[in-house]
Amino acid sequence: RKTRVAVVFGGRSSEHEVSCQSAKSVLPHLDAERFEVVPVGITPQGQWALGTDPNALEAGAGNLPTLRDRSDLTPVEPGQALRDVDVVFPLLHGAWGEDGTIQGLLELGGLPYVGPGVFASAAAMDKIFAKKLLQAEGLDVGRFVALDRTAATLTLDEREHLGLPVFVKPSRAGSSVGITKVSDWADLDDAIFEARRHDPKVIIEAAVPNVREIELAVLEFPDGRVEASLPAELRPVGGGAEWYDFNAKYVDDSYEADIPAKLDDDVTDRLRETAVRAFRALDCQGLSRVDFFLTEQNELIVNELNTMPGFTPISMYPKAWEATGIDYGTLLTTLIETAIARGSGLR
Ligand code: ATP
Ligand code: MG
Ligand code: MG
Ligand code: MG
Repeated sequence: RKTRVAVVFGGRSSEHEVSCQSAKSVLPHLDAERFEVVPVGITPQGQWALGTDPNALEAGAGNLPTLRDRSDLTPVEPGQALRDVDVVFPLLHGAWGEDGTIQGLLELGGLPYVGPGVFASAAAMDKIFAKKLLQAEGLDVGRFVALDRTAATLTLDEREHLGLPVFVKPSRAGSSVGITKVSDWADLDDAIFEARRHDPKVIIEAAVPNVREIELAVLEFPDGRVEASLPAELRPVGGGAEWYDFNAKYVDDSYEADIPAKLDDDVTDRLRETAVRAFRALDCQGLSRVDFFLTEQNELIVNELNTMPGFTPISMYPKAWEATGIDYGTLLTTLIETAIARGSGLR
């Protein structure tokens, strides 16, 4: 029989709608000759439901599809939803999905799944821990200060160390949700308050001046080979927008992409090498999108890793692979085959 693939989408995080959007694209592109798809939705309240077609969803926040306010869903327990499934594609972004939690559930159930395991997922989701691990590997992650659950604000020494402007971020979030760029210390505490609405742990980073934003897609193949795609660059259109916020990502057209990025060959080579190093530094498996800042001096700063990046055909991860020679359908098949080859258990 065909391989039964559960595509789990939606979820409890602030990126619920982004996940529904990803699922909308992934489902119809899975190879129907080989895979039988079982769509599994998770509502924003955390209710699992079978038989939800992401293509039939209504628009919610940012005009993106949502499972919010749906009364027609058939609720199921997770174990029931995943019964008789061969492999799981946890197409969830953010907390309770991209952070090791569902990966833990799948490990307990002995089910293979697409993407990194429990530790790598949790480490990449937490910007503070990710930076510590990347630093230990000798990678440049830029200047930052971690505000733990108890620290109210930055000390004067920390302000001096970072300088202005700074980016204030929830340690564990995504899609730029909860992030503020602060150019005046008088606005710092409001920005910390905003970040803490999403996570009690906050990271404050020095803004990289005149930054170029470069993203690479890292993929593990079924034979264990790990490769980085060609780099993609995100640019504000006409230099208008200041940074790549939620609206720029999903709502307006203030950013455009160069895929591949226009870079000297030696910079491209360094990016591809460093992306794989960062992937390994966090013990990733399957896939990750590695986001870089390229400085005016062509220095590479690793901003972050996303272990389940956006997955529409126009999202950066699939686009970068397309430009490197792997089309969307083949990419999805590769991800699932790698998950099956890895199997379940400690490995
Ligand atoms: P994603 O959707 O990629 O998961 P995220 O919510 O994890 O995003 P970041 O990628 O850390 O957030 O930051 C979002 C954006 O904010 C960056 O793409 C960039 O435009 C801007 N930014 C963040 N940190 C810095 C920095 N230190 N210097 C300059 N720009 C920054
Ligand atoms: Mg991120
Ligand atoms: Mg993300
Ligand atoms: Mg990012």
